[in-house]
Amino acid sequence: MSWMKELADCYLRVGTQYPGEPLMLVSDIDGTIIDMRYFVLSVLQSYDEARGTAYFTRLGPADVTVHENQVERLLERVAVPASERSAVLDWYLEHRWQEDTILRAHRPFPGVFQMMRWFQLQPNTSVGLISGRPEKLRDVTLRSLNQLGDPFRVHFSDELLFMNPGEWNQDVEASKLNGLRHFQDEGYHVFAVIDNEPSALKAIAPMAKETGMLLLHANTIFESQRGSIPRGTARGKEYHLTELVAGEEALPPSVQLVWHGVNDEDNLRQFIASDVSWAEVDVRQDSAGKFICRHDSFEITPPLPDEEWLTLRGMVSEVAKHDRRIKLDLKGGRDVLDRVLQIVADQGFAEDQLWFNGEIETTLEEGFRRIRAEHPDAILQCPVSWLSPLILGAPAEAHKTLEMLTSWGISRFSLNWDHDLARESFDVLVGWGYEVNFYGVPDLEAFLEAVLLLPRSVTSDFNFPQWHRYGHGSGKDGRHFSYAVDTKGSR
Ligand SMILES: [Mg+2]
Repeated sequence: MSWMKELADCYLRVGTQYPGEPLMLVSDIDGTIIDMRYFVLSVLQSYDEARGTAYFTRLGPADVTVHENQVERLLERVAVPASERSAVLDWYLEHRWQEDTILRAHRPFPGVFQMMRWFQLQPNTSVGLISGRPEKLRDVTLRSLNQLGDPFRVHFSDELLFMNPGEWNQDVEASKLNGLRHFQDEGYHVFAVIDNEPSALKAIAPMAKETGMLLLHANTIFESQRGSIPRGTARGKEYHLTELVAGEEALPPSVQLVWHGVNDEDNLRQFIASDVSWAEVDVRQDSAGKFICRHDSFEITPPLPDEEWLTLRGMVSEVAKHDRRIKLDLKGGRDVLDRVLQIVADQGFAEDQLWFNGEIETTLEEGFRRIRAEHPDAILQCPVSWLSPLILGAPAEAHKTLEMLTSWGISRFSLNWDHDLARESFDVLVGWGYEVNFYGVPDLEAFLEAVLLLPRSVTSDFNFPQWHRYGHGSGKDGRHFSYAVDTKGSR
């Protein structure tokens, strides 16, 4: 079983064993949250820069295979002349824990903040930090972690950080035990501890045994002996939300979920069998003027000789029959709007079962206003990733544009997750009080990450075999997802 799955199971267990008690996951920082290789590299490269040498310019993070306290071993391997090694080492030791190094050169392991965000969102659950770093680094440690955690909406407060009251490397194991006792005295039930140092885990083991605490070894780079890892410790080096979150039912209910591209029988069946409430269909006309469900235009993807389409009328009535909600992605112009609205009206959807999406250049102001007039309480959305550079570069202008769109009746703005500026734009839009939808999430990991930011909604292909969700995809670029059957049944 993967370590994240063990953590999930353990959390579930304590939740039922200790209902209503404040629960805490405790994590170490260096080598557990922070990938120290980047920072070792950065300090060594700053030596090159200061001295005009080029020992480390071609080094990548994968070349740093030593613990941050054993950098001399790296210097031997890299072609630093023996006469200069002590000067490099002095530089390294002098600069590595300086404030600007910590703020500039620290990088988290992929997935670690997403994992922490998940726990921070759970009721009665906190993430505590216990670090061997000395107290004098408290301010900068908090500042750095909160800066790194910000894109994931992860925040650590002063009370939940326990540091070494001594100097560097002084009684680290004893201090970690004191940290755990401190959090227990504060009333937390610590259910799991993650650390990369075997010696720290060994010191905690008796307490863990007594209280049923799960120990997790972050199998990254560590200094102490591997042999001291206590029995029963879960081990891993990758943080995956997909192993932590079991299914849709575990997600925050405030986020509306939309099954993207329900354009064919296969996807419709999958959608109906799920708990997802919204089906998005792509609406366009075939050559005879009939409304069909198809993502691509016939210009971009010419029809296959045997291609068949579901009619919009048929699809909408299936969704209505199962009492689900429909999101219509209008691919045609406003000239067809009357007929589309009529097809929808014939099914008698309630306002809270209706959602319309259109691009501003095809639906146009007139189209949006027309939909709003007919459906005062439906969701009316347009994609705005094209506006992201302006949202960040000239916010006042962008805000004016969004207000104009709002005045047309648009009530939600949609951002492409794949866009470089998606998260930053999201923060600004939320700050301005707008409802935001994310679309374009490629897989379950990205989907979970998007959902945990708590946008109003997330639209996704539900191509999540881990959850037994076999979304077929919308047929974008004429392609669909397919899934292989593992007949050996290894999982
Ligand atoms: Mg550590």
